Amino acid sequence: MSMQTIGIIGGGQLGRMLAMAAARLNLRTIILEPQADCPAAQVANEQITAAYDDIKALAELAERCDVVTYEFENVPVSAAQTLERGVPVYPPSKALEVAQDRLVEKRFLNSCGIATARFHAIDSQQDLEAALADFGGKGVLKTRRLGYDGKGQRVFRSASDSPAGAYEALGSVPLILESFVPFEREISIIAARAKDGTIESYDPAENVHRNGILDTSTLPANISSATAKTAREAAEKLLAALDYVGVIGMEFFAMADGTLIANEIAPRVHNSGHWTEAACVVSQFEQHMRAVAGFALGNPDRHSDCVMTNLIGDDILAVPEWLGKKDVLVHLYGKAEARPGRKMGHVTELKGRKTSSQG
Ligand code: AMP
Repeated sequence: MSMQTIGIIGGGQLGRMLAMAAARLNLRTIILEPQADCPAAQVANEQITAAYDDIKALAELAERCDVVTYEFENVPVSAAQTLERGVPVYPPSKALEVAQDRLVEKRFLNSCGIATARFHAIDSQQDLEAALADFGGKGVLKTRRLGYDGKGQRVFRSASDSPAGAYEALGSVPLILESFVPFEREISIIAARAKDGTIESYDPAENVHRNGILDTSTLPANISSATAKTAREAAEKLLAALDYVGVIGMEFFAMADGTLIANEIAPRVHNSGHWTEAACVVSQFEQHMRAVAGFALGNPDRHSDCVMTNLIGDDILAVPEWLGKKDVLVHLYGKAEARPGRKMGHVTELKGRKTSSQG
């Protein structure tokens, strides 16, 4: 096995965890990120300190790497396409195109036979009022692009919730109105596809959000095996349709009757898959690296039940307590400043671990 170099666009915690997994497989990593001493570069082999769309820097990355991947979905599609002319880029730029725009994403999911909330494209206040009337006054208004962690959203809970000024308040940019989904719980699935088309998926996680940010992922999710199978099948359809290589994260709303409504996809490793580093032999990070390097995928089976908790802002102060607990894997991201809402690290607590130690 010759030593490959993997380029990673983006230098946050996901890039950091990818670089750590890569090192164990003798894969070298170069991070492209404008911020010096970013979380990923602290553990990678090298950093190119430049903007994500810096043509010269991208050319250098292509020149010096065998494969390029990314840790966030807002890499400019044009940059990924430029790179693709010189070096394999995994996941393919088509996945970025689909994931960057909620309207394109929903249409693509539907074309794969995957159910989503009903939706209308909104390009004016009139569009919004007509769409809300169609949904009985209820719905979730979102920016089509660049929304994350619940930002750029407005919820209409009843017909008495006035939409006056809402189009402007969200920036007079292209929006989407989704029908309000009365879900019972939120789940996600992490799946991977190798170059030869092999697909492996992890058990679905049950996710709870706090202030629009993921708080905990619990395994197993409180869903039936039929619902879990539906999630796996949806991921398989999507990965095949995108001719995908790498790990994908898919979030769903689970309804009381067990049906699933896809909410969004992330063409990368995902926060709701961090538990895999503690409860599986091969984590989502290693799985992604295996896929993009052209290696065989690893076993995604879970050996323990577990709960992953994000450490957001001041939650980092509780690290000494977490370190004192048994069966807890603590993972910190190397960020100097604990601003409110900033992801500083996470912990995964194994529950009901099978122990067979002797003596
Ligand atoms: P998103 O940014 O799309 O992940 O949305 C953030 C959160 O808002 C989700 O995790 C849900 O809790 C809630 N949400 C989003 N879309 C809908 C919807 N169509 N119906 C009900 N709740 C939603």
